[in-house]
Amino acid sequence: MSRLASVYPIVSARSLARPFTYEIGDDVGKGAVLAIPFGNARRRGVVVDADAEAPPDVEPVAAERVLETLPPALVDLALWLADYYGSTPARALALIAPQQAKRRGERRRVASTSALAAEPAPARLSESQERTLERIEALLASGGGNVLLAGATGSGKTEVYLHAVQALLAREPDAQVLVLVPEINLTPQLQERFTSRFGAGQVAAMNSGMTHPQRLKAWLAAHSGTARIVLGTRMAVFTSLPRLRLIIVDEEHDPSYKQQEGARYSARDLAVYRGKIEGAKVLLGSATPSLESWQGSERGRYRRIDMPSRVGQGRLPAVRLVDMQQQPKHTVFSIPLLAALKDRIARGEQSLIFLNRRGYAPVLSCNACDWKSECPHCSAYRVFHKVDRTLRCHHCGYTEPVPRACPACGNVDIAPVGRGTERLEEALAELLADVRNAHGSPVRIARMDADSTRLKGALEQQLARMHAGDVDVLVGTQMVTKGHDFRRITLVAALNADSALYASDFRAPERLFSLLMQAAGRAGRDAARADASEMWVQTWHPRHPLFDALRKHDYPAFAAQQLRERQQAGMPPFGFQALLRAEARTQEVAQAFLAHASAQAQGLPGAQEVTVYSGVPMTIQRVADVERAQMLVESPSRGALQTFLAAWQPVLRTAREKGLIRWAIDVDPLVI
Ligand SMILES: [Zn+2]
Ligand SMILES: [Zn+2]
Repeated sequence: MSRLASVYPIVSARSLARPFTYEIGDDVGKGAVLAIPFGNARRRGVVVDADAEAPPDVEPVAAERVLETLPPALVDLALWLADYYGSTPARALALIAPQQAKRRGERRRVASTSALAAEPAPARLSESQERTLERIEALLASGGGNVLLAGATGSGKTEVYLHAVQALLAREPDAQVLVLVPEINLTPQLQERFTSRFGAGQVAAMNSGMTHPQRLKAWLAAHSGTARIVLGTRMAVFTSLPRLRLIIVDEEHDPSYKQQEGARYSARDLAVYRGKIEGAKVLLGSATPSLESWQGSERGRYRRIDMPSRVGQGRLPAVRLVDMQQQPKHTVFSIPLLAALKDRIARGEQSLIFLNRRGYAPVLSCNACDWKSECPHCSAYRVFHKVDRTLRCHHCGYTEPVPRACPACGNVDIAPVGRGTERLEEALAELLADVRNAHGSPVRIARMDADSTRLKGALEQQLARMHAGDVDVLVGTQMVTKGHDFRRITLVAALNADSALYASDFRAPERLFSLLMQAAGRAGRDAARADASEMWVQTWHPRHPLFDALRKHDYPAFAAQQLRERQQAGMPPFGFQALLRAEARTQEVAQAFLAHASAQAQGLPGAQEVTVYSGVPMTIQRVADVERAQMLVESPSRGALQTFLAAWQPVLRTAREKGLIRWAIDVDPLVI
C-alpha cells in the first residue's frame, strides 16, 4: 500500500513556497531524499511530512525511489532556517541534502576506514586548562546547558576542546562531535591535531575548498557514523550526524559564520538551535566573544567559563599607542615604532605588521586633471597591484593593465595614492635597507595576504618559513592575525586599524577590539620571549574608550561599556534587526521597490512594534553594474519582527518592479 507525502523538490526558485504531494512506499519517512518527476525533469526532493493528504484537485505522482535518508531533525533545522532567515524551504533543504545522493547500497564502500594509530598520550594540561575542562565535563555530564568558553588568546582552548571530545567519546563510544571553525585557512592545522589524536578514519573535514566527490565521501562517513568527528567551516553545520552529542563553535564571534549570499544564516546560531533539537551540547569558544553571546552568558542563556591565563607563562603583550596626530604628516611608520622594530630584528625576534588593505595602493591618480582609477562597473576605485602592473577591482574583479598615461588628459605622471600591503612591504625594505639582523644578514621581509597566498601550497610554505625563523618581519592583512601560533613573534603592530571607527556601523568598535585582541594574541606566545612582547597601535583616536580596555586586555570591561551604549540605543542584542536589500539596473528602481515595500508594511501583523526606516543606497552603491539599496527594519521584540517578516514576504513576492533584479531579506545582519 502506498501513502502520500509532502515533498519539497530541490530547486532554487523563490516562487516554490509550498511542498508537492507524492506517493511513497510504506517504509519511507520524513527526511527521505527521493528521486521524483517534477515538471519535465527528474529532481531530488525531501520528504517533510510522510503523512500528507492529497489536495482535492491534484492527482499525486509516485516518487521513483529513495536516494538517501536524512535524520528528521535535520529537516526541522532546514525548515527553521527557512522560516527564521526568510528563505524558502526548498532552498534551505538543498543545504542539508548531500550534493550527489547515491543509492543506499553504495554507502558501504566508504564505511570501513580503519582508524590510524591514534596519538597515545595527549599533551599535558596546564592548571587553568585542567580546571576549565573539569567544569565543562561537569556541565556536559549534568545536562547543564550550553557553555561559552571565554579563553584568552594563547590560553590553549584547542587542547581543552580535544580533551572534552576525548572524554565524551570515551564515555559514549557511539557519539559524534561537530567542530566548526570560521576560516578555511585554519582547518588544516586543526584537522592535523584532531587526526593525530583520534586517527584519520575518525575525522571528516567539510569545507567549500573540497571537490564534490571529497565532500560526498566526508558526508557519507559522517552520515554512516564511521567518522565520529566532523570538522569544518559554516557549511559543516548541515552535515548529517545521526548521533550528534556535542557541537564546538571555535572563534564564535567571527563574522565568517554569517552566510552573506542566498540563505543568509548564521552557522553559530544554527548550531545552537541544532543542539537544542538534537539534544546535543553546544560549546562556544572565543577570546573576544560576540556581544550577543556575552550578553547571553550574563543572562544565563550560556554558562560562562573564563580561562584567562596563558599556557606556559606566555604573557599578554604590553599595549603601546602612537597618537598619529602628533606625528609628522604622511608618517607611515612612527619613529618609536620603527625603533622598536629594529630592536627586535637585532635580537633575532620576529615582528608582525598588519594593514587591512592588499595591493600596492588603493587608488591611482593623475596629478594634472584629478583622474582616479575608478572601476567602470562599480562605485569604487580599482586597486593598483604593482607586482603585475594591473588595476584590479576588488568588488567585481574587473582588471586592466595600468595605463601608460592618464586616460583623461594624457599626462604621464600618474601616481599611487595611499598604501596597501605591497607598498608597505616595499617601504619597509627601504627603511630597513641598512639594518642587519641577528645573523648579520639583510632583513628578511615577507608578505602574507590573499594575493601572496593564492597559489596552492603558498600559505603553507609561508607559514613554514615563518615558523622556521626564516623571516624577520611579516607584513600582512587581517589574515595573519587569526589563529596562527607564531612562537617567535614579540612585536605586533596595527598601522591604520582604527579607520574602521569612522564607519557608521555600530559594530565597528566590537570588530576593531576583537581584531586588536586577536592580533595582540600573536605576540609573546613563547615564555622565554614573553616579557618583552609588545602590541603597537598607531591611532588617530587614542582617547577612544576601547583602547583603555585593550591596554588592560580587559574584554569584560569593553563588553560592559559597549552593551551599555547598545542598550541605550536599542541596538542588538537589545533590539532586533533585519535588512531588506534590493538590486536593480538603476538606483531609482531599487529605491522604488523599497518605498513600495515600506508602504505595504503598514497594517501587517507585528507592524505596530516594528520600525521600517527609509531605503538608502548601500555604502558601495554599484557593483558589477548593479545598483544596490537597503532598508533597515528594527524591533524591540524578536517575536514581533518575525511575525512581521513572515507576513511581509508574500507581499514582496508579488511586487513586480520593472528592472528589479532581486531582493533579499537579511535577518540579524552583521553589516549595516
Ligand atoms: Zn589626467
Ligand atoms: Zn568593479
